[in-house]
Amino acid sequence: MWERIKKFFRINNNKSKTGHLMSRVKHMKNIVLFGPPGAGKGTQAEVLKEKYKLVHISTGDVFRYNIKNSTELGTLAKSYMDKGHLVPDEVTINMLKAEVEKNAEANGFIFDGFPRTAAQAEALSNLMLQMKSQINAMVALEVDDEILVGRLLERGLSSGRPDDANETVIRERIAEYYRKTDILKEYYQKQDKYFGVDGVGSIEEITERLSAVIDKL
Ligand code: AMP
Repeated sequence: MWERIKKFFRINNNKSKTGHLMSRVKHMKNIVLFGPPGAGKGTQAEVLKEKYKLVHISTGDVFRYNIKNSTELGTLAKSYMDKGHLVPDEVTINMLKAEVEKNAEANGFIFDGFPRTAAQAEALSNLMLQMKSQINAMVALEVDDEILVGRLLERGLSSGRPDDANETVIRERIAEYYRKTDILKEYYQKQDKYFGVDGVGSIEEITERLSAVIDKL
């Protein structure tokens, strides 16, 4: 199954619009909305995409869509997601590229839940270069771990997400964040593109903090 998924993406990437994307120079605003699980990335991305007319890509949502539709990608992703682990890079990166290429006319993107590893950050940087664009900023929502656990357990009462329903899985997702994702702060700091924002407060207050960063880009 793993080989078939990889082949599917290879075929689709070969047919991709990369050449078309490369032929145009566009002024895009591309933002990575960053933070551990439960930091509020999805909630804020919904507001910001309207405010700044950006395309919102959540890799978690794309995986959940595939699970709901019982695709092979969904079956593969579920085996990792249910344990609180990251889905392997190759499949995640190819999926993200396909999502970006579907939205070639966008003014820019809000990436929510991607990149989550160093390999994903490199792939995103290369993809942006191919589009003669770049990531303008990583805006991070900073929230203490115990607040995250509380928020995710609360969300689990209504989200229907199996990975929100179990405290062990929630803690594993946070651990996975520290193992593989937290280092990306440094990756973007080195490029002067990291902006941390206090992620505790009302939705409106946090949107204001994020907007203060985005407006200056
Ligand atoms: P999220 O909706 O962002 O909380 O993601 C839910 C789950 O989807 C994660 O715990 C991972 O198993 C998987 N996932 C989402 N985005 C990625 C990614 N960029 N890399 C690997 N796995 C991901």
